[in-house]
Amino acid sequence: MESIYQPVADLILRRQPCVALTGAGISAESGIPTFRSKGGLWEKFDPTVYASIEAFRGDPSKYWSIRGEFIRNYDAYQPNPGHRALAELESMGLLRHVITQNIDGLHRKAGSRSVTEIHGSLREIFCIQCGKEYRAPNIPEGTPPRCECEGVLKPNTVLFGESLPIQALETAWREAGGCRVMLVIGTSAVVQPAASLPFIAKEHGAALVEVNLDKAFSNADYFLEGKAGTVLPELVSEMRKQS
Ligand SMILES: [Zn+2]
Repeated sequence: MESIYQPVADLILRRQPCVALTGAGISAESGIPTFRSKGGLWEKFDPTVYASIEAFRGDPSKYWSIRGEFIRNYDAYQPNPGHRALAELESMGLLRHVITQNIDGLHRKAGSRSVTEIHGSLREIFCIQCGKEYRAPNIPEGTPPRCECEGVLKPNTVLFGESLPIQALETAWREAGGCRVMLVIGTSAVVQPAASLPFIAKEHGAALVEVNLDKAFSNADYFLEGKAGTVLPELVSEMRKQS
């Protein structure tokens, strides 16, 4: 019997380069709390108070007081089979790049090397005064934590009202415009700029493959229903059979 993954495996093997766009869905399977969805963090904490750049400039202790809600212990979270399947595809030479909206760093932890984190990463903290970088698990004590120079430390993530890192955006646009297959995984991509990336890919002739619990893209060429941690390893094993 033909696997439901076979046509997509064929497509990825035949049409390169392939690029993935990932969102909260893939990380939810690793236990990362969600932000925007129902029951997510922004229902409990008003982001304009706790996570906007304006609020941070006024009183950074607000952000730091809920930092533990974002990620209690950065090193405690581990990539799941979905992250690992993407890393494996990259090492097979079948996935050129991962563009992610996630700030948890799990793609890199899983072994993906070509990754653009368009909303930044919780991995690094830096001093807004002198620029010195700290690794997340080594944040100095105190609320808000301060640098040796007494400057306030800020996460290397994009806060509300803050503009996205231009270099990351340019990479994301270039990868979306240059791929021939885009895998859209665990995201409904309603938030810009991620929302435009599947459309850019499509406009440039790429095929769209959606991996989600619920279909969100009416223009997807293929829809693989299910968890990323289930669907992606199946897809990789199908490709291993064929290649
Ligand atoms: Zn400093």
